[in-house]
Amino acid sequence: MPLVSTGELVSEARAAGHGVAAFNVITLEHAEAVALGAERAEAPAILQISENAVKFHGGRLAAIAAATSAVARASSARLSLHLDHVMDVELLRAAHPEGFSSVMFDASKLSYGENVKATADAVRWGHERGIWIEAELGKVGGKEGEAPLDAHAPGVRTDPAEAAAYVAETGVDALAVAVGSSHAMTERTAALDHALIGSLAAAVPVPLVLHGSSGVPDDEIRQAITSGMVKINVGTALNTAFTGEVRAYLDAHETGVDPRKYLAPAREAMAGTVAGFLGLLK
Ligand SMILES: [Zn+2]
Repeated sequence: MPLVSTGELVSEARAAGHGVAAFNVITLEHAEAVALGAERAEAPAILQISENAVKFHGGRLAAIAAATSAVARASSARLSLHLDHVMDVELLRAAHPEGFSSVMFDASKLSYGENVKATADAVRWGHERGIWIEAELGKVGGKEGEAPLDAHAPGVRTDPAEAAAYVAETGVDALAVAVGSSHAMTERTAALDHALIGSLAAAVPVPLVLHGSSGVPDDEIRQAITSGMVKINVGTALNTAFTGEVRAYLDAHETGVDPRKYLAPAREAMAGTVAGFLGLLK
């Protein structure tokens, strides 16, 4: 099926009171697993490639983007392509030729004023090309190269009044907010601030995005969607499933060398994880 746009999937989910999941793609097997999981769950999904994943591919976006796009177009599921956590403006500008319908432009490390200016520039660039732009206010910690963040620390969470001003000043299409989740969690123990999610959803006119959803238990994700969260980002849970299968195979087969022997169960485990998350969002 042809690619659909992220903006369309997010708008549909929001109108229906559902969530839509975005899964991080690192290898071809990740992309194949997302497509398989979406087909099994009979649900749409967003395939997202992060700036860190592009760095893993030698700083080259084109090959992993082309492979991901080909997997999506060969699938019967409705899938879109998204660039995630883009800090490099050059990478933002590469999104358009590669067929991405959306970008998360991440200026959350900058001061408020600098974040507004950089994000407003990214939004202007994106909207001239029909690209939907997500941004982050507050700080969802735990990304690669960062110390794990105490999500309960004061000042870390997104303030509703500041969020409303930020959306108005930048013109973003969706807002990633800090409400108690953290990136790279391998245990599903995060407790979200549901009152804050409700206040943010009431304060800003655009859909909210939950980063670090791998560490959030099923019932917390369901409740977050009820409170107004729409785009649910999942990365680490796929890697936990992938690596668990690879480790089990290699532990049991000390002389094994054929990668298909461990990548096949790894891909299947990720597809199961994808279908599980998609089942939560309806
Ligand atoms: Zn994120």
